[in-house]
Amino acid sequence: MALFFVFSPMEFTEGVPLTLLPEESHHIFQVLRAGAGDELILFDGSGKIAPCQALKAGPRVSAVLPGKVREHLPPPIRLHLLQGIVKSPSMEDILRRGAELGVAEIHPILCRHCAIGRRGGSGKLPHWKSIAVAACKQSKNPFLPSIHSPLHLATALESIPESAPLIAASLEPGALSWGEFCRGHLQNFSKKCGDIFVAVGPEGDFSPDEYALLRRRNCTPVRLGPRILTAETAALTLLGALQFELECTLA
Ligand code: SAH
Repeated sequence: MALFFVFSPMEFTEGVPLTLLPEESHHIFQVLRAGAGDELILFDGSGKIAPCQALKAGPRVSAVLPGKVREHLPPPIRLHLLQGIVKSPSMEDILRRGAELGVAEIHPILCRHCAIGRRGGSGKLPHWKSIAVAACKQSKNPFLPSIHSPLHLATALESIPESAPLIAASLEPGALSWGEFCRGHLQNFSKKCGDIFVAVGPEGDFSPDEYALLRRRNCTPVRLGPRILTAETAALTLLGALQFELECTLA
């Protein structure tokens, strides 16, 4: 049987019993039907994992006994996704795929053409975080992405260090093809080994003003083929292709 991943943001130590969060108890012991005595894998979201044994397997209260704790080295490149907020459930889908693909930070972006309500998605943050936890558990990714509060594109761009590469999925004329991007930019980006920022627009695309903001920030625009993709397909394609190049080709 594949071992279940259990999330605990609390510090854990070998041999010291740990009480799990109620939502984790519910998921592991009620939904997935694990029981007392079962072996599980505990992770804290920052790369620390430990095998553990379920001591008490209640649907709301449960405890586990951690074994030897190991630390995964953080990936040399931290991918950030600046995602124009899209309507539910597409946004959740993007967060899920982002966590599966090892994105380090997700920045939901308020754009002119976002189709969302007045609160701008800020009330959704706890729900979005729980989606990322579930995706890490499913994909056995020990690094839980940080999900930030929604910001306008201009504000989000100000917080990006000038030296960090920024790539945008772009529908504007003149955007580079994937081949041109890989040949001309990717090698240099990956040599810097740090943070790489990726921007994807909302359902209604970036506005001309937003494309201009991205250009001013020295963004590299990339076209993902001749078709118009939905935001979730574009995010998945760009992140997947980039991770593939970084982790499988250049590694
Ligand atoms: N409603 C718009 C499409 C928006 S798609 C229209 O019909 O024109 C949402 C986002 O996905 C875009 O802002 C862009 O960032 C990305 N995207 C979609 N297709 C793309 C492609 N072929 N290449 C690059 N980015 C793309």
